[in-house]
Amino acid sequence: MNTEVSLFGYMLQMRSHLLANKITEIHKLRNHSPEPERIEMIEWRSKLFQHLGYALCEDFEKAQEYIQQWADLREQAVPHEYSLTYYLNSVFYSRSIILNVLHNEINDSTLPSSALLEILKIIDPLLDHATSSLINNYTINSYNTETDEDLIITLEELKDFKFALNEATIFAVTDSNNTISYVNDHFCKISKYSRDELIGKDHGEIFKSGYHTEEYLDNIWHLIQQGKVWKGEICNKAKDGTLYWVDTTIIPFLNFDGKTYKHISIQYDITEQKKTEEMLLKSEKLSLVGELAAGLAHEIRNPLTTIKGLVQVLQETTADKKALYSDIILTEIDRINYIVSEFMVLAKPHAVYFNECNLTDILKKVIYLLEAEANLKNVVIINDIANEDVTLHGEKNQLTQVFVNLFKNAMEALPNGGVIRVSTAVVNDNIKISIEDNGVGMSEEQVKRIGEPFYTTKAMGTGLGLMVSYKIIQNHKGSISVKSELNKGTTFDIMLPLVGNKANIQQFK
Ligand code: ADP
Ligand code: MG
Repeated sequence: MNTEVSLFGYMLQMRSHLLANKITEIHKLRNHSPEPERIEMIEWRSKLFQHLGYALCEDFEKAQEYIQQWADLREQAVPHEYSLTYYLNSVFYSRSIILNVLHNEINDSTLPSSALLEILKIIDPLLDHATSSLINNYTINSYNTETDEDLIITLEELKDFKFALNEATIFAVTDSNNTISYVNDHFCKISKYSRDELIGKDHGEIFKSGYHTEEYLDNIWHLIQQGKVWKGEICNKAKDGTLYWVDTTIIPFLNFDGKTYKHISIQYDITEQKKTEEMLLKSEKLSLVGELAAGLAHEIRNPLTTIKGLVQVLQETTADKKALYSDIILTEIDRINYIVSEFMVLAKPHAVYFNECNLTDILKKVIYLLEAEANLKNVVIINDIANEDVTLHGEKNQLTQVFVNLFKNAMEALPNGGVIRVSTAVVNDNIKISIEDNGVGMSEEQVKRIGEPFYTTKAMGTGLGLMVSYKIIQNHKGSISVKSELNKGTTFDIMLPLVGNKANIQQFK
């Protein structure tokens, strides 16, 4: 071994602590370790210098073995909760520091420049060995897999991921102002714009379909600005004016000071799925309207009979009786008017707009609408709805449809009459609505199947009522659960987020 090289090796061993402390300084400077450095870490780093020194002045092979052991963090009693980058940086910094020392020695002419290459020839393979051993150990022992999984993915694999992402999804990248900086081919295809037409445009403006309220869109922007991932369904407008639906995940990327500098949006085309859903909703509504019409005919015929009778006697009666009869007639007409207008809410086609709506009002109206039919079928509706007003963010017509569905099912489960009890309760930030009947009930098998499209046990059933109801409640960020026992009865519990509940803002962490 060359004397200068050996001498440098001894020096590395002697100064190992000092050099290890230098790494700590670099770490602090680069903000890799906001906390004070642990003494074991410095100890561990100094060992690397010692092993490298040993290779220079004594035995390369042995040094290699030592480095292998050095990379086993658990064995070395080094804190192993840091990220892989943290440990790897120690290796990279060691090389920079050694280069720095070499540079100074050569400048001071204490070391001939020819020794530089000799030393690096020995040190570099050892540092490579240290890096790969650390990676191996780290992965095998999976010290901190979550943060470092990405790091050990080879470039080749990364390329594969990119390819897969490009192939499988509609993909766009926007900058901190939401200006589009990249779109893949699928994105161009679905939006019908060319890449040149999209790059540099405001992602929030160009696809606006008018379907979502400004508030809804502002909310999304607000959340991703805070660094939160947003997931949901968006209706966009393509270049030719047609609308398309995408299931979207927007992932914001933050820089060091916590500001977003880039967003990646990954989308899936769900236009067809949306069309099918809409169709099912429509067909279910039609059959519901038909069913309701039969019940409503009764309800309208009754006041009409009263009116007819009163009008007949109106001519021959005294003035004070006339006033009384007129009052009754007006009340009855009001009732008809009310029933018909409520019925139209269900029957008329309408766009779906989410607003603040009063749940208590909706429930009361549904009960009012169905009371006549219930009477006819010997069913008593017990109203245990809490009196205070409950506001939630939703679509009144759709919510009405859900409750009508559930009440109708309950009534149909009571062929010989019985009781339906409806109650509400506030649970945390949600409202729970329970609709309970003491009817025929369901077996476990039945309970498992309800909500499947076309699953019905009724001769004239559609088997769509619950499916549509589930879908609507899901769109409202709520949930439905069922308890049922054969020949005892059934309870449907619906949970819906109240205004102010975070679930309303569609937040996913
Ligand atoms: P349909 O009412 O047209 O059959 P639904 O989707 O509304 O379709 O309901 C599906 C099935 O779920 C019903 O056929 C019935 O078997 C069962 N079901 C729903 N609600 C109740 C209930 N309250 N009690 C007993 N069975 C019910
Ligand atoms: Mg039904």
